[in-house]
Amino acid sequence: MKVKLDFDYVIIGSGFGGSVSALRLSEKGYKVLVIEKGKWYKGNDFPKTNWNLKKWLWQPNMKLFGFFKMTFLNHVTVLSGVGVGGGSLTYANTLPIPKRNFFISGSWATLNNWEEELKPHYETAYKMLGSATNPELYAADFAVKDMAESIGKASHFEAAKVGVYFGEPGHTVEDPYFEGKGPDRTGCIYCGACMTGCRHNAKNTLDKNYLYLAQQLGAEIFAEKEVIDVTVLDAKDGSDGYKIEFESSIGKKEKASVTAKGIIFSGGVVGTVPLLLKLKEKSLPNLSDMAGCAIRTNNESLMLVTSTNKNFKDFSKGLAIGSILHTDENSHLEPVRYGEGSAFFRTMTIPVIFNKYAVLRLLGVLFLFIKFPIKLLKTIFTKNYAKRTTVLLFMQTVDSSIRLKLGNITKMKTVSESGPTPSGIIPEAFDLSKKYGKIVNGIPFGNFVDVLLGTPTTAHILGGAVMGENSSEGVINKHNQVFGYQNMFVCDGSMISANPGVNPSLTITAITEYAMGEIPIKAS
Ligand SMILES: Cc1cc2nc3c(=O)[nH]c(=O)nc-3n(C[C@H](O)[C@H](O)[C@H](O)COP(=O)(O)OP(=O)(O)OC[C@H]3O[C@@H](n4cnc5c(N)ncnc54)[C@H](O)[C@@H]3O)c2cc1C
Ligand code: SF4
Repeated sequence: MKVKLDFDYVIIGSGFGGSVSALRLSEKGYKVLVIEKGKWYKGNDFPKTNWNLKKWLWQPNMKLFGFFKMTFLNHVTVLSGVGVGGGSLTYANTLPIPKRNFFISGSWATLNNWEEELKPHYETAYKMLGSATNPELYAADFAVKDMAESIGKASHFEAAKVGVYFGEPGHTVEDPYFEGKGPDRTGCIYCGACMTGCRHNAKNTLDKNYLYLAQQLGAEIFAEKEVIDVTVLDAKDGSDGYKIEFESSIGKKEKASVTAKGIIFSGGVVGTVPLLLKLKEKSLPNLSDMAGCAIRTNNESLMLVTSTNKNFKDFSKGLAIGSILHTDENSHLEPVRYGEGSAFFRTMTIPVIFNKYAVLRLLGVLFLFIKFPIKLLKTIFTKNYAKRTTVLLFMQTVDSSIRLKLGNITKMKTVSESGPTPSGIIPEAFDLSKKYGKIVNGIPFGNFVDVLLGTPTTAHILGGAVMGENSSEGVINKHNQVFGYQNMFVCDGSMISANPGVNPSLTITAITEYAMGEIPIKAS
């Protein structure tokens, strides 16, 4: 018996993949619902600094309902976004295109000529996200530029392409992007606070482009609701549609459900992958055994260097990421800053020691405290931590991967795969941080978990529902369709099937544009 379904498509998660899907499906005439577990955040809702944990951190078991989440796994600490707009609320706006190697490696390599296929979709993504070259460099950018000169790489340094509106600083204008259909925007004031949420209406978050336009076309958004189950309605392959069950993620756990003909999983890697693993156990047994495999960290390292100079420059001014240094064919370094006053990470960091053995790393940290007590104490207790500190984000296309599984005690755990696992100890990253340290008179610090366990922290977790020729090679095919089910897609970071080695949001946007382009207009 056929029942009338509530929606044509339900999209789980409102980050880059989810927002693109919402707009493009709405444009094609489909009735769309986006379900998002985080909150709606607007201008003044964002905290002034990251000491306001209630507004900044997402940690529901501690009653913290912000938009920035930290997930501690065996092999990696993952940073991600939660809220209407997903990671765009907390991201640093940088929108680079990966180098060629990304398009010809990994499990998707032979499925398409990706570099050519995706070219027009990167153009669309640039346009939709309002990408522009950062017009103003500030102290941290200049310090990296100085370092680039000192290592003979001056020509490899450039201003970053970012999704920010650069009109007259602080001046509001009518929609400059979408021929009047979009919201008003205000010129960036270079306050450096992009990662604690833009309070100045300058950052092109997804609620100001894709989601905004999708809502004009009738797409509905349920915020503060977490999808907990997806079951087929009648036919075992989902061709009759699905029932999507969700519960309130804030306050009393009230459950509800809707039905839809199709599903788009867009919860980001730490949302989609554990959900798929859970669904495979009972509700959706046809899902590929590859769910959770080939998770990549962009081979990334994050180190913090705090200037201890008496007359320090203000490193908190500028964009969160305003420039990029291409250190070699596979590697990039970006200086990252938080806005004035955002000093939470000082509570989580210790000096970085480069050594294979944990005991020697620990002894090395103690030794540093004996050798440079004043410098280290100044770093930790300085009043002007954000103004003095630069986070150095290093990324490589060099491949490494891990597998995500459901944990018995913890919700998720990671295990090794056959190849190399991501390491927190990347010699080039450490070397560059020390060189940067010499310029600003500081010592590289890292997340204490990373320093002690030798694991990395990443803001760019990718994979876990990768593309393949068939279900023994991947979870989705080259059109993002899930093997084993009809009208079911994965469109978010978990579909990324090789290591981009650069910030991935533009690529997630472009691949989702491509996948949504393959879906036909709704038959009338
Ligand atoms: C501090 C920081 C800085 C960054 N800077 C950059 C940068 O400069 N450039 C760049 O390219 N990338 C950057 N990133 C990474 C970028 O944010 C992510 O790669 C990107 O957001 C991933 O997009 P996505 O589509 O996979 O999903 P996400 O953007 O992660 O969104 C997924 C959404 O789904 C929701 N969700 C998950 N599970 C469920 C469920 N079961 N039910 C309902 N909702 C659910 C989540 O709450 C979330 O809002 C940064 C990340 C962080 C944390
Ligand atoms: S620098 Fe400040 S004003 Fe500009 S986008 Fe970032 S948070 Fe917004």
